[in-house]
Amino acid sequence: MTKKLRNFLLFASALLACFSFSSLKNTVQAASDQINVVSTLDFYGEVAEAVLGDHGKVTSLITSSSVDPHDFEPTTKTAKTVAKADLVIYNGAGYDDWVTKLNPKKTLSVASLMNVKDGDNEHVWYDPETMSKLADRLVTEFSKLQPENKATFKKNAAKYKKSLTKLTTLLDKIKKNSNNQKVAVSEPVFDYSLQKMGYKISNTHFAQATEEGSDPSYSDIRKLQNDIKNKKIAFFVQNTQSDSSVIKNIVKLCKKYGVPVVKVTETLPKGKTYVTWLQSEYQAVLKAQSSSK
Ligand SMILES: [Zn+2]
Repeated sequence: MTKKLRNFLLFASALLACFSFSSLKNTVQAASDQINVVSTLDFYGEVAEAVLGDHGKVTSLITSSSVDPHDFEPTTKTAKTVAKADLVIYNGAGYDDWVTKLNPKKTLSVASLMNVKDGDNEHVWYDPETMSKLADRLVTEFSKLQPENKATFKKNAAKYKKSLTKLTTLLDKIKKNSNNQKVAVSEPVFDYSLQKMGYKISNTHFAQATEEGSDPSYSDIRKLQNDIKNKKIAFFVQNTQSDSSVIKNIVKLCKKYGVPVVKVTETLPKGKTYVTWLQSEYQAVLKAQSSSK
């Protein structure tokens, strides 16, 4: 009996300790009240950070330019980070859909936001309009979690969207001199920007092959070589993050025939923000325009 009673008391006090500990933990959590966001890609994480301000934290999963997001393999640590997030932002359209298999509480596909489906060009961040739409959508999502901060989220999003006008101004400036000209690309990475600039892509079939990691067909290479030699393209866009010998030879040929080469990357370079990154690439297009005049 005594033993039973003692056991009961021990159990009761343990239970009590548990309760007071968990209620203490709850108060601490409520006091900090941070929205926990995970983004597969760092440039989307940047938008989330801008909209959240100090009401949450953002963890981006792919932050190194040496990692090809097409081939990213999530680890156990990645899975744990994803499971803890209130919202997971990912590109979608087949680009980083592995994240949806890691039991996220809630996901937001940027491609779906832009009505881009599986099989369409998935590099949607190369349209600055995407970031603007994402900022607006994040205001809605974060306001569901913290209605009391809706005004702050709105204000933060407006400020972020204003920073994008640096890019739209450049796009308009480029468009004035693009005259529906043709350009060629190593991969479809930069296409959404090129469309906004008013350029036509002359080698989509070639570019798709590089994107898929295979060599373009002989006739596709031949056609591109002729377009360069006959100056049928305004410039060539090279994704410097992929190193195929076919592309290296094309770049050499461009240099030989005085066709400008605009260098772009698939992922955000170190030390740059989304705006400064695209700004420098758009400047390179402007430079290519003036050199071919
Ligand atoms: Zn890609």
